[in-house]
Amino acid sequence: MAETTLFEKICAKEIPAAIVHEDDLCVCFKDISPQAPIHYLVIPRKPIPRVGEAGPEDQSVLGHLLLTASQIAKNEGFSDNGFRLVINNGPDGGEAVPHLHVHLLAGRPLKWPPG
Ligand code: 5GP
Repeated sequence: MAETTLFEKICAKEIPAAIVHEDDLCVCFKDISPQAPIHYLVIPRKPIPRVGEAGPEDQSVLGHLLLTASQIAKNEGFSDNGFRLVINNGPDGGEAVPHLHVHLLAGRPLKWPPG
């Protein structure tokens, strides 16, 4: 059986995090090392390691992550200025934590393309 990830422990409140939102499918909390004035992570409660390993049964939870990120941006008043959602997948994608997470970045103009 796969080892419990850091983010599963945050979901279970075994490790503290600054939680912004939670519901039955996902948790959103502040990134510990923010890369923008607003940097949140939106994660599924289900321990899907990465988007590349999600299956058809995960379609609704994947949609929920994006809709929740968008709703948080609206609720917190930064949606109109814009924001960026990022999902890193695997070694070349820059993934460090093997529990699917959507980065929600905002609060400054973000450069493109990413490095
Ligand atoms: P990845 O590189 O896997 O896409 O992103 C992992 C993110 O998790 C990084 O932005 C990193 O700063 C964040 N992170 C790592 N450990 C912790 C932690 O213990 N608490 C919180 N809140 N964020 C973390």
